[in-house]
Amino acid sequence: MTLHIPFDNTYTALGSVFYRKQAPEPVSQPRVLAFNHDLAQLLGITPGDLPEMAEVFGGNRVPEGADPLAQLYAGHQFGTFNPQLGDGRAVLLGEVVGTDGIRRDIQLKGSGRTPYSRRGDGRAWMGPVLREYVVSEAMHALGIPTTRALAAVETGDPVWREGAMPGAVLTRVAASHLRVGTFQIFAARGEREALKRLTHYAIERHYPGVDGPMGLLRAVRDAQARLVAQWMSVGFIHGVMNTDNCTISGETIDYGPCAFMDIYNPSQVFSSIDRMGRYAYDNQPGIIVWNLAQLATALIQQLEDPQEAVEEATEIVHAMPGMIEREWLSRFAAKIGIARPQTSDMTLIEDLLERMAAGQADFTNTFRALSGEAARDQFIDPEAFDGWADGWRQRLEAEENPKTLMQQVNPAFIPRNHRMEEMIAAAVSGNMALFERMNTVLSRPYEDQPEHADLQNPPKPDEVVPATFCGT
Ligand code: AMP
Ligand code: MG
Repeated sequence: MTLHIPFDNTYTALGSVFYRKQAPEPVSQPRVLAFNHDLAQLLGITPGDLPEMAEVFGGNRVPEGADPLAQLYAGHQFGTFNPQLGDGRAVLLGEVVGTDGIRRDIQLKGSGRTPYSRRGDGRAWMGPVLREYVVSEAMHALGIPTTRALAAVETGDPVWREGAMPGAVLTRVAASHLRVGTFQIFAARGEREALKRLTHYAIERHYPGVDGPMGLLRAVRDAQARLVAQWMSVGFIHGVMNTDNCTISGETIDYGPCAFMDIYNPSQVFSSIDRMGRYAYDNQPGIIVWNLAQLATALIQQLEDPQEAVEEATEIVHAMPGMIEREWLSRFAAKIGIARPQTSDMTLIEDLLERMAAGQADFTNTFRALSGEAARDQFIDPEAFDGWADGWRQRLEAEENPKTLMQQVNPAFIPRNHRMEEMIAAAVSGNMALFERMNTVLSRPYEDQPEHADLQNPPKPDEVVPATFCGT
């Protein structure tokens, strides 16, 4: 079989101010570590034999129809504006329209230097590549909008991080790679025409029919409000919510230092570079609003008189916290078996969360156990749970099918940090068994899979992973 990717590119036509043409840099000995056949099928891609796939997804051969380029963008990193970022270690090969009619980008990440690499080497090592593969596919299976992973290829070249690490390239698939930062760069430069064209392109691609820049702002707000509530509902901490890592499509992107919580701790931070806790678990709803305000600021720069739009843009942004709160309430209510929440259910949920934090309860396992008998065992002091559960059981009398609802929304399996570390260590020494098992199990996260119960266990004290690294 010969690899075939049905490219249908549109970004190139947007204009050369938006990117630089850049082919991936060749690697020594590409070898396929993983290929996602289900996703390939959705994208209309015919897989080839392994050596050919290694050549293409390792970056040694540009496939027919591809038009590789590095995209330009800026972004606020930890609150500080960086006027020029861009794909420093990634190239967009092109776009395909899937069997579902959705247009998606196919990007190689870790594919070598580009005009935007600054001092970076343009590369990635196997650890973060496999981590992004597993976590992004797990997020997809959880029902959370996300970029996806099509392939992981080992390069055969060392990458220098805390020492020599095996290099790898991830093939990332996204509804697009447009970010808040893509708008910010042209706004900062006062390039109104470019901003207008980008706005038009984003609307056509993601929200056809919405009206102008303020319509786009509303649509992104709605998508990001839903997204952050979904993250919260599974204990996901993104870790680096810079505006260049915040998509226009509403997909989760950039799995650098992300992690799922084990023990519930609202102020949990994993990222080793997030010293101030800006991107802590419970700061995420506030940060997404801040990011949307940056998008608003950028979008209005395309207007003849930006001042005229300030009031409307402000209103749109100010409505976001309330929307997130409603999304949050509906998701957390479902987690405790309530299908149609009332405002008063907020207190019930918050009471449980407070007791979970005090009782050092595992976030995932506690919610999963609510539909069984064992939830109280998750708490240091099980009576703290009992004190909550009486009121909860009374409330559930008004619900039709709380058990089923809870099982549908509370995952049994998440990618636990300590197992991810174990998976990466094994993969580096050539053993892909845990990687493959995690992918299989995490593709059905809401099903009990007793033969894989070990993947549900929280870390033992000596297994706890205290920090995650950008891994760049
Ligand atoms: P990130 O924190 O991964 O979102 O990356 C922020 C910026 O740094 C983006 O412009 C990346 O392309 C760039 N970058 C990250 N790692 C590297 C690397 N190893 N080489 C070149 N550029 C990089
Ligand atoms: Mg990024």
